[in-house]
Amino acid sequence: MTHSLTITRRVWTALLTVPAVLAFASAAIAQPFDAADLDVARELREQALSSDLGYEITADLTTRVGNRLAGSENDARAVEWAVEMLESMGFDRVWTEPATFPYWTRETERVSIVAPTEQELVAIALGFSPATPEGGVEAEVVMFDDLDDFEAASPESVEGRIVFIRSRMERARDGSGYGPAVQKRARGSVVGAEKGAAAVVIRSVGTSSDRFAHTGMMRFTAGSRLVPAAAISNPDADQLERLMTGDQPVRMRVEIEASVNETYTSRNVIAQLDGAADPESIDAPIVALGAHLDSWDVGTGALDDAAGVGIVTAAAKLIMDHEARPDRSIQVILFAAEEIGLWGGRAWADAHGDEVERYQVASESDFGAGRIYAMTARVADEAMPVIEAIQAELAPLGIESVERGGGAGPDFTPMLARGLAAVRLRQDGSKYFDYHHTENDTLDKVDPDAMKQNVAAFAVFAWLAAQSPVAFGSGPGLVD
Ligand code: ZN
Ligand code: ZN
Repeated sequence: MTHSLTITRRVWTALLTVPAVLAFASAAIAQPFDAADLDVARELREQALSSDLGYEITADLTTRVGNRLAGSENDARAVEWAVEMLESMGFDRVWTEPATFPYWTRETERVSIVAPTEQELVAIALGFSPATPEGGVEAEVVMFDDLDDFEAASPESVEGRIVFIRSRMERARDGSGYGPAVQKRARGSVVGAEKGAAAVVIRSVGTSSDRFAHTGMMRFTAGSRLVPAAAISNPDADQLERLMTGDQPVRMRVEIEASVNETYTSRNVIAQLDGAADPESIDAPIVALGAHLDSWDVGTGALDDAAGVGIVTAAAKLIMDHEARPDRSIQVILFAAEEIGLWGGRAWADAHGDEVERYQVASESDFGAGRIYAMTARVADEAMPVIEAIQAELAPLGIESVERGGGAGPDFTPMLARGLAAVRLRQDGSKYFDYHHTENDTLDKVDPDAMKQNVAAFAVFAWLAAQSPVAFGSGPGLVD
């Protein structure tokens, strides 16, 4: 396709430089891609829809490795699994890069109501929670509506007590309920330490009424003081709320055994399908597809994020197996230690920040396995017609809109500040937060048909991004 790329680029560049009125007149017929590249995109789309490869990769990781908390023995097994899997697929090159981080080990957690009656609750410690003193802490409970309410409270009303934050998460297709709801998980423990709380217990950041508690990371800086913190399942939170609105004082006991450990070095695992074009001839020769290899230590991390690993790997493999070679290279980057603080993404940005202009675009799959329904793009003005042409090829998959803006997914966030071009293929997250970070995130929640649609979308997107007649742009101009 190299010869046709040259022609198309020339025509397209000419189109971009004609006066606005002429460009407008020709907009209806402007197609940035040449016919052969569009044919390949359509073939890839059909092939992906009849392939189980994405699901098979997801099943293999979750079955053979299981969950894989960063720094655990399974973290190392997952890296080994990924290298073997990518090498066996025939990528032109497979390598790993280090990511070093402090890690956390969960031993046990027990949260119970002790008065007015004894009741054991379904609970899970939050990531990096300190341990309670031996035997746990027992205290009267004080309830707050949300993090803001807690932050506004006087230290006297909190000191020595167990804090319960009851805010609920709203279900939404785009996951927009998560941002507001996750604040209490991110900051509750730090605020608890500032006010002298004995422990902090939150209603799970999740949308299910199943009796599973949702873990997740807390946000703090080195030197922050923390108090022991756990989430309880949503039905248990309902129960506690009912008791708290009654007329008897409620006492709870929180017992957590966990430890924060010295540093561990895991690996980002990267595979590349070499592009056909001379890298010198195109401004930004790499299309980067990402997912994260680690998970929480519960369930098997199927939706978060084995599904993403399956989706982006299968998409790249389909392109690799097609007789047409992409002009730009395509990388699959499986990041380490996303869950406990984006350590793999940060290490990648540190290692590759100076070469941000080599990246045509980056896109991560890390929102489960629901069907993709929309697209966002953070690219230069001149790339928007190309993005719109890509969206037109995704429309038969039910991907009906494209909007300007957005990011590339969590692991690419550290690189965004350097001006990385970003696309997000937005998945339906209506059910994602029913299972997110729980024992219930297992393979049966992954819909094989939705996986095929995801793989088809990533294959079409990655192929056309690699064939684009224009660079998607990079640098400070893209920083909003
Ligand atoms: Zn994730
Ligand atoms: Zn996660």
